[in-house]
This record gives sequence, structure tokens and C-alpha cells, in this order.
Amino acid sequence: MAYGSVRGQLTRRAALFGTGAVLGGWLTHRYGSKVPPVTATRQVTPSGGAETLNDASLLNETPIFRHITVQENAGEAVIARLRAEMSEARAEGRPFNIGAARHSMGGHAIPPGGHAVTFDNGFVEADIASQTYRVHPGARWSQVITALDARGMSPKVMQSNNDFGVAATFAVNAHGWPVPHGPMGATVKSFYLLRPDGELLRVSRDEFPEIFNLTMGGYGLTGAIVDMEVEMVPNRRLVPTFKKMAAKDFAPFFIGAIEAGDVNMAYGRLNVDRETFFEEALMITYREEGDQLDLPPVTGSGALSHAAARIFRAQLMNETAKDLRWWFETGLGPMVGGGEVTRNALINEPVATLDDRDPTRTDILHEYFVPPARFAEFVTACQEVIPASYQEMMNITLRYVAADRESVLSYAPGPRIACVMLFSQEMTARAEADHRRMTEELIERTLDLGGTYYLPYRPHARPDQLLRGYPRAEEFVARKLELDPDRLFRNGFWDTYLEALA
Ligand SMILES: Cc1cc2nc3c(=O)[nH]c(=O)nc-3n(C[C@H](O)[C@H](O)[C@H](O)COP(=O)(O)OP(=O)(O)OC[C@H]3O[C@@H](n4cnc5c(N)ncnc54)[C@H](O)[C@@H]3O)c2cc1C
Repeated sequence: MAYGSVRGQLTRRAALFGTGAVLGGWLTHRYGSKVPPVTATRQVTPSGGAETLNDASLLNETPIFRHITVQENAGEAVIARLRAEMSEARAEGRPFNIGAARHSMGGHAIPPGGHAVTFDNGFVEADIASQTYRVHPGARWSQVITALDARGMSPKVMQSNNDFGVAATFAVNAHGWPVPHGPMGATVKSFYLLRPDGELLRVSRDEFPEIFNLTMGGYGLTGAIVDMEVEMVPNRRLVPTFKKMAAKDFAPFFIGAIEAGDVNMAYGRLNVDRETFFEEALMITYREEGDQLDLPPVTGSGALSHAAARIFRAQLMNETAKDLRWWFETGLGPMVGGGEVTRNALINEPVATLDDRDPTRTDILHEYFVPPARFAEFVTACQEVIPASYQEMMNITLRYVAADRESVLSYAPGPRIACVMLFSQEMTARAEADHRRMTEELIERTLDLGGTYYLPYRPHARPDQLLRGYPRAEEFVARKLELDPDRLFRNGFWDTYLEALA
């Protein structure tokens, strides 16, 4: 079937959110915020100074020595430039770190007082015969999707948004919602790594496998990735199916759907209004259409995606809007957003779509990886902890992650349900303190269930929680120090958690 309608150009998320966009503005106007004004509290206001770097949390403004952006194709010149920067940093005892979009929220791509490099280059070369592509480590997923789409292909695994860098995705070992895959690291065939001592290595599962497993999910602490070879899959035309259920029944339905073997993409959501918090779930599964001819080229996010941000933001401190959004998402959304769509269109969604444009607030993510058999208990834990806090939860998405038994800092020693939460946090000291308290409690409850939390977000876990959630953390630190005894590659994550384990 041809796919040329206007609706076909919209992402499904946009359609679901966007059905209520018009109401968004009215709701914001009708039910304003009822909490004390932020002017009554100590605010966190980044200076935006040239000698500082911040990340997507906006809560990590850090003085640095120098920030350079590398836009050249990977090659001799780039390697020489990095080596020169690294030796200057080493000679002066300053840290060095590579970053991409800096959407990690704990200074993971910021070297305090050091040399920060941003990779920004969209080189992508697909090889249909091997079903892989070579990519610059700083390429953003939007660039990868565009390049692969033109060849009828699609990234095998990436995050739910397209703004992030490819090496950065490997360095946090991110996951997405294509099934039945594990984290993105499982799709990396090989890469070139500029070690802290300046030596260039080709690393794969056969060549330096130990360095491969340390670098996958190793937060840039083993060296600079300068070139990558990654797996791709054919782009596909998909159709969604929606199923509403009690939240505590979600895991068996979800795992059952994935194990049936015909699902290509899958996720779930739970309702977030405080009164009936996490009582209902919606499962969305995408399967291939019979007709896979003439797939339309992937497009960027449409106007409806941006309009969709309004209903999403209308939920802020507004229980009626949360109810209404859930009603749209589970009722009206499936009716208007239920058409066919390509795999590439589904994953080509920028974070900016949901930008709040409010300088007094920031979006903070959390993520918990829960053994499917314990998911109902995790729902109970969230019901007890989250609505009792001041934090405004805007959204939760549930994904499937297959086991990762390769990376040293693995968050999925077995199959897990990944629970991705988005909070809107006031930019104040009181909100930060409350968020830390709530996060510690959620992490504790998740660890008790045999699950763990995700490392790229706010550094709110206690050090003992890191060790429980990542039992090989000490081994990671010992091996990193063998590769980098001078601690040249350092960032906020190392300083906050790992230095103490050295
Ligand atoms: C809105 C939002 C949605 C998200 N959705 C998901 C999701 O669906 N699934 C998921 O798993 N995660 C998700 N995340 C987390 C996200 O995947 C990570 O924060 C990821 O690192 C962001 O990419 P980045 O380009 O911003 O990385 P950065 O923050 O710039 O870097 C991350 C890490 O990678 C290292 N690094 C970067 N480039 C290199 C290189 N060339 N060599 C060596 N190390 C390098 C950095 O040093 C740093 O430690 C989300 C985050 C946000 C803010």
C-alpha cells in the first residue's frame, strides 16, 4: 500500500500527543500552578560563562580549561589533533574527555578544569553486503537515520530520540525500543580507540575483547573512540496494535508479545495522575505490514510534534490534564495514530519536540531496569514513593532490553523491563534535595527487587548503591587504571563515584 498521506508523515508519538494539543493551551490557562513561587526559594541559575560547560540537566555547570569542537572526518589529522590536546592535558595534570550532545545528566561528558572535546561530524557509509555501516563517532542518530534510510536500511538499536552521538550511545550502552534486542553495544562490530597513552587500537570481540567490554558502557573512560562499525537492519513499514490493561499485569503481556517473535518495535506506558498513579498500562506493539514496497523517505518531526509538546507540558502540576492526556493516549490516540508508519519514521524524533522553554524548570530523567517477574512489585514501590514526593512526573515509558553479558558495567545481566521516567524539576535547591531523596529511595527499592538503575542521569545514587547495582564497578576501575594510570580520561562520573574505588 502506498504511504503518501499527510498522516503518514507524522510520528506516532506526535499523533498520540498531538490529538490534544489544542486543549493544552486552554488547560494551562484554566488550571495554573498551585505551588509556592520559585522566587521564594534558592534558585539554581547557570551563568552560561564561556569557561564553563553544562549538560542537559542544566544543573552541572562546571569550569573547564578549554573546549574544542572536532568536525573533521576521522583520519590522521584528527588523531594528531587529539594526541596534541591529550599531551598538553597530561603535561599540566588536567583531565581530558570527549563528548557529543551532552545529554547525560551527571557531568559524564565534562572534565572538571580540563580539556573538553565535542565530536560533531555526520559521516556515515553503509555497506549493504555486510549489513553494517561505518560512522564517525560524533555522528548524531538523525544523520545516521537519514543516510541509512536512503539505502532502505535502519539503525538496529538506538535510543528513543535522534539527537545523541553514536559513540556516546555505545559509551553509555544505551537501549531503545526495537525488539527483541539488548543494548546498542550488542550491535557494534568494531571501533578504533585512541588509548590514553596515544596508541591507536582496532577493538572488536576478537581483538582486545577486554577493552571492548570495558569501553561498551564505560563512559568514555578508556580512551577516545575515533571510528565505528555498527550493524543495521532493513527499514520496514509497520502497523501498531494497542492494548490497555492493569499496570500490574503489564510484564506477562509484554514479554509474551515479544517472545511471540513477530513484533518489531514495542513499548508501554502507565498513567501518571497522583490519585490513580500507575494503575493502568497501555502496551503498543508494531508488526510488519504485508506490503514492504515503496517505503516513503523519512521526514523530520512535523508541526504536530511541536504542538504535541503543549498537551505534554499542560500536565505540569495539573491533575486534570494528566487524566486527559491518558484518555487521549489510550482512547483517541489509537484511533488517529493507528496507521502504518516506517521504522525510521518512528525513531527519527528529536528531544527538542518536548522542550519546555521554561528557564525556571528542567527535565530530569530516571531509569530503572527491572526483572520482568518483579515488575508488579516495582509498580507498588513507585506508587508508594513517587506521589509522596514534590516531583512532577510527566511520563513513563516501558521498554524491553535483552540480557547484556558483555559490558563490565552491565545494567541487564538478564532480560529487563526498562522503566524510563521523565520529571519536570524546579531549578531550585529545595527541588534538588527532594529529588535526591526520592531517587535514593527508588533505587533502594529497585535494588531490593534484583534490578538496577541507569548511570547517565543525575548523580543521586549513594556510593553503596552504585556497588550493589553494578557489582563489577571495582573491577572496572582497576582495569581502567591499568590502561590510564595517570587518570587522563576523567569526567564528572569518575570524580563522583569511581575515584573513591581506585
Ligand atoms: C531526553 C532523553 C532521552 C533519552 N532516551 C534514552 C533512551 O531511550 N535509551 C537510553 O538508553 N538512554 C536514553 N537517554 C540517555 C542517553 O542515551 C545518554 O545520555 C547518551 O549518552 C546521550 O548521548 P550524548 O551524545 O548526549 O552523550 P554525551 O552526554 O555527550 O556523552 C555520554 C558519554 O559518552 C562518552 N563519549 C562520547 N563520545 C565519545 C567518544 N567518541 N569516545 C569515547 N567516549 C565518548 C562521554 O565521555 C560520556 O561519558 C536519554 C537521555 C535524554 C536526555
